[in-house]
Amino acid sequence: MHFDTKAVHAGVEPDPSTGAIMTPIFQTSTYVQKSPGDHKGFEYSRTQNPTRFALQDSIAALENANHGLVFASGLAAIDAVIKLLKPGDEVISGNDLYGGTYRIFTKIFEDFGIKFHFIDMDDVSKIEGYINENTKLIWLETPTNPMMNIIDIAAAASIAKKHKVLLGVDNTFASPALQNPIDLGADIVMHSVTKYLGGHSDVVMGALAMNDKELYERLAFIQNSCGAVAGPQDCFLVLRGIKTLHLRMERHCENGAKIANYLKNHPKINKVYWPGFEDHPNHDIAKSQMKGFGGMISFTFHEDDMQRSFEVMERFKVFALAESLGGVESMANHPATMTHGAIPKEERMKVGLLDSLIRLSVGIENAEDLISDLEQAIG
Ligand SMILES: *Cc1c(COP(=O)(O)O)cnc(C)c1O
Repeated sequence: MHFDTKAVHAGVEPDPSTGAIMTPIFQTSTYVQKSPGDHKGFEYSRTQNPTRFALQDSIAALENANHGLVFASGLAAIDAVIKLLKPGDEVISGNDLYGGTYRIFTKIFEDFGIKFHFIDMDDVSKIEGYINENTKLIWLETPTNPMMNIIDIAAAASIAKKHKVLLGVDNTFASPALQNPIDLGADIVMHSVTKYLGGHSDVVMGALAMNDKELYERLAFIQNSCGAVAGPQDCFLVLRGIKTLHLRMERHCENGAKIANYLKNHPKINKVYWPGFEDHPNHDIAKSQMKGFGGMISFTFHEDDMQRSFEVMERFKVFALAESLGGVESMANHPATMTHGAIPKEERMKVGLLDSLIRLSVGIENAEDLISDLEQAIG
């Protein structure tokens, strides 16, 4: 089935009791049993909830995976993945990643005896130099946040397979409409559903999808045991959001290309980071593993002046100055002080995340209005 048809239909069946075309919001904590253990497959909503199950099936279908799990946030999904590990285990992670991911790795799980190596994965062959008998997981984001580097998922997957290590890919920036890591050999794909999957800036949620049944069962056990499940109302909102994911992504990509090119030709702007440019260092990999280049763009000015970037952001009228991304509305973010404030400055500088860098999440508005807004704000 084509992606567009899956976005509209996957996971969703008419409600068996009424025929309701939309999956009902099963706002219930528990389910009545006829006799102890004699029930309809639903006992307690941390463990089973029909609205959540529909969404899990939908996300699994979009990622061409056999199984899906949804969590109370993207970080709760990452938390569940790391709980597959034990003290002494090691993780090799990309060094340009969401600030909250860096924070949970270093400030929570290092205290539990798990060791993280943060490395530049632009050239994935570097991963092998960090693999030893304790390595259990390779974790990467692509495109990376906020530098828009592209990591070769298939090449990382073959390294992971060779060494019998799990590969987890945070696919938040691309969304399943543009990139499907499971097809490229990843073991686990993760989403901050908060972003493109939800798409309307009204839900915080996370998801995992995977093919392997045993891996799914271990993660479902963690989901139920640790309890960071997504609520039914939020699952309903995301089921609704997903129905237009393919249409939204088309416009995000179209507007993204227009704005990236506008910024690239702007005399006051130094660098523009967007994987769609032919001179992007890994453009060819982006072209082969993504169906489009997305609406996430970062840029810097000629002089690295934070105050000046603040002034530009204060002048935006259409772009909303906010953390988060992937909503229908355009947003601007200052990673150094907002989303990536948890990363020490020397770590940021290593990947080129300057104080003046502004990250845009280009929405689905009219591109001319967005360009006029940039025009008046940048001056
Ligand atoms: C937002 C984000 C997360 C964290 O997700 P939450 O839903 O905010 O917990 C993880 N990875 C990436 C790439 C993100 O953008």
